Amino acid sequence: MNQTAPVEKARRPLMALDTVLADLLARVVPIDTTETLATVQADGRVLAEDLVSALHVPPQDNSAMDGYAVRVADVTEAGVVLPISQRIAAGHAAVALQPGTCARIFTGAPVPPGADAIVMQEDTREVGGDLHAVHIDAVPRAGQWVRQAGEDVTRGAVVLRCGTRLGATSLGLAAGIGRAQLRVFARPRVALFSTGDELVMPGDVPPEQMKPGTIYNSNRFFLRVLLERLGCEVSDLGIVPDRRDLTLAALKSAADHHDLILTSGGVSVGEEDHIKPAVQALGSLDLWQVAMKPGKPFAYGTVRRDAGAGADAAKPCHFMGLPGNPVSSFVTFLLLVRPFLLKLQGAEAALWQATLRPLRVPAHFDLPRADRRREFLRVRRNAQGGLELFPNQNSGVLTSTVWADGLVDNPAGATIAHGDLVDYLPLAELLA
Ligand code: AMP
Ligand code: MG
Repeated sequence: MNQTAPVEKARRPLMALDTVLADLLARVVPIDTTETLATVQADGRVLAEDLVSALHVPPQDNSAMDGYAVRVADVTEAGVVLPISQRIAAGHAAVALQPGTCARIFTGAPVPPGADAIVMQEDTREVGGDLHAVHIDAVPRAGQWVRQAGEDVTRGAVVLRCGTRLGATSLGLAAGIGRAQLRVFARPRVALFSTGDELVMPGDVPPEQMKPGTIYNSNRFFLRVLLERLGCEVSDLGIVPDRRDLTLAALKSAADHHDLILTSGGVSVGEEDHIKPAVQALGSLDLWQVAMKPGKPFAYGTVRRDAGAGADAAKPCHFMGLPGNPVSSFVTFLLLVRPFLLKLQGAEAALWQATLRPLRVPAHFDLPRADRRREFLRVRRNAQGGLELFPNQNSGVLTSTVWADGLVDNPAGATIAHGDLVDYLPLAELLA
């Protein structure tokens, strides 16, 4: 058969990932509305105020041990016997320590005025059956086992800055200065769609009755979880079939009441890919195709809002189109959508400016064939501190993302030989 060579279309160069990320971030105007939440409800949200402590933490000097509060001057040698003049339990007040005596004290109890050290219980002995006096068997240093007032937080100090992403420890710290409520930025409102006629929701059809050509919708699940973990309010709008009219309708109705429309699938070059032309018709498509693997078809644009959008009507809704292949969707979410959403909800710049913070780790694998694009390889650390490569790096293989604990950020055109130091991005950081 006589084959004609395919016509080589003039290809425009793909945009570099760093350029796309910088461009996306430049388009974000952070949300300025705030709400007040109970501290315990604020996990994953971004603090919208500086938290200033109204007190010292701990509020007063207290004991770090169960033992005896003493004056160092009274214990000049090991073995002195001191009468016990008071007993101080945590949560109870102390009176001044009489010279020449000690106080029985417990962890967290206030150090009595006049005492300047704690001798731990293990360094003391009862005086033969007498519960009112004790041998002090170790000469204490001044300040020993005393937790000083304000050693954690001083009154007037800013303990957490506006823009902090709240988590377990920061919420504990906020509670520790007496804050039962916190002012946080409003959640970004995200409309989530999956596109594709092949998609079936798990639960709708059992595996043995799946029609030929259909697959279960996995992107919807992990994208929703990733969005919720990032503090977003998600409108999960289900599956949009591969039809121009339905795609237009879905985008149009979502734009009014959301900050971002996030789709997966339908942004490639096939004629069943309706997302891009629909965004172009309803607003503008500003970025498309990134020089990365997986994730090349990523798209960004905006969708106009109607007058019905109220105060939001003047500004358009952000749109991001992720590729349909699950690993491509996952990687572009972590590297592009995540920093965008962090900036959108008022997080401090350090959290979205440097989301790619690689560690240099030796590869315990070979990558003899270089790719033209910057590649993000699914890898896992082994017991020897090196990285192993998941054997199947296809962008449809979601198993690789469960197996992996990180991504190797491999420059375009680079091969890797066993022992080479490579840039490793821990997934724990990108999923936080
Ligand atoms: P597309 O980007 O629409 O061309 O899709 C690329 C590949 O990803 C196709 O093999 C789709 O079947 C698959 N895909 C698209 N959306 C999903 C989804 N939500 N869950 C799982 N696979 C998907
Ligand atoms: Mg599709």
